[in-house]
Amino acid sequence: MFRNITVNAVRRWPTALPRGRAVASLASLPETHQMLQKTCRDFAEAELKPLAAKFDREHLYPEEQVRTMGELGLMAMAVPAEQGGAGLDYLAYAVALEEISRGCASTGVIMSVNNSLYLGPLQAFGTPRQQERFLRPFVAGRRVGCFALSEPENGSDAGAASTTAKHGSDGSWLLNGTKSWITNGFESEAAIVFATTDKSKKHKGISAFIVPKPATGLSLGKKEDKLGIRASSTCNLILEDCSIPGDHLLGQPGLGFKIAMKTLDAGRIGIAAQALGIGRAALDCAVEYAGKRVAFGKPIIKLQAIQGKIAEMATRLDAARLLTWRAAVLKDGGQSFTKEAAMAKLMASEAATFIAHQAIQVLGGMGYVSDMPAERHYRDARITEIYEGTSEIQRLVIAANVAKEYGLD
Ligand SMILES: Cc1cc2nc3c(=O)[nH]c(=O)nc-3n(C[C@H](O)[C@H](O)[C@H](O)COP(=O)(O)OP(=O)(O)OC[C@H]3O[C@@H](n4cnc5c(N)ncnc54)[C@H](O)[C@@H]3O)c2cc1C
Repeated sequence: MFRNITVNAVRRWPTALPRGRAVASLASLPETHQMLQKTCRDFAEAELKPLAAKFDREHLYPEEQVRTMGELGLMAMAVPAEQGGAGLDYLAYAVALEEISRGCASTGVIMSVNNSLYLGPLQAFGTPRQQERFLRPFVAGRRVGCFALSEPENGSDAGAASTTAKHGSDGSWLLNGTKSWITNGFESEAAIVFATTDKSKKHKGISAFIVPKPATGLSLGKKEDKLGIRASSTCNLILEDCSIPGDHLLGQPGLGFKIAMKTLDAGRIGIAAQALGIGRAALDCAVEYAGKRVAFGKPIIKLQAIQGKIAEMATRLDAARLLTWRAAVLKDGGQSFTKEAAMAKLMASEAATFIAHQAIQVLGGMGYVSDMPAERHYRDARITEIYEGTSEIQRLVIAANVAKEYGLD
């Protein structure tokens, strides 16, 4: 029912904001983006929010919901319409991902990995042939991809990758090593894998490869038992003489680290949006509860101590959203956005953790049990400070860019 009304509507959005659009005007979204926001909000309210606790409890991948999102254009938002995507801009992506994550944070990360970490580099660096085989079939939500950069020994220090790639005798590539913490690891049907062809060149020896799944020599580790986002799968990809055709190199040899960093710049806008959604869900929960819960003869929302918390939560959320939208608009305008995306992710992820923490306090004992969603938001929020670069790494990125602006690099 829901999809009949909305699929065509979503596919009709004009594609981009005018270049150079003033950030101040982000106080109100363009009408088309508001329509997208409403569509995603209605979908999340009807099809994600009621099931999110079950998905979390039972570690259930939301397969049907992801398919519907594919039909809505949400699994390939920035891919041009000619290639089957929604042909939208990154502001639209941020708006949509916040709404989806407000309904279910796990579904939010599944969406973000497919959009920014898998399709993003294929769109930017893939050959037409690679795009035909590995991008087109992944736009509709029936197949998802994953991104494999981290290793057991190298997370923040991704340039120290020790997974190796060597040419086989027939021109194929042979990959060896372990990639860890891979989101969508179980469900994905292809992976962007980073491996070094020459470790002595450090990050300049890293290349990016497209690995179909299944592939000879590729196996999966155990499904990680996580604190939050438990409906998305996370596991190791184990590569033991994993053989892939010679033309599965993505971009130029030695360009892998650059591809990874560019991909993560954009991905951070997505994680900021995911954090906004989690923060918003926690705020919703706190405000609704405070309006109903009576203590000392009045609803607790009338108590100044509770009002102070709610004011702080709402303000941090709005500040984070403006930073997120600014980063998206800069990207859409073709401007540099590395620093701004790092600021957005840092601010939004720490805001989400703060808001979810405060929401539990507002709910008192009810915040501590799974009858209410506050404890899930608290668990879900925490990851946004870790993946796609920890908060410490975001601070390094921001400080390096600020130093550059002062001519001190
Ligand atoms: C649920 C989940 C899903 C994930 N999904 C993916 C995925 O799909 N693909 C993928 O490739 N990876 C993924 N990751 C990996 C994630 O990106 C890394 O966990 C993250 O980058 C941190 O790396 P690490 O865990 O090795 O921590 P480490 O790098 O060992 O860091 C440990 C601590 O030291 C700090 N630290 C490290 N270096 C510095 C420094 N120079 N300055 C200051 N502090 C520093 C860190 O901030 C952190 O607090 C995922 C992780 C999780 C938990």
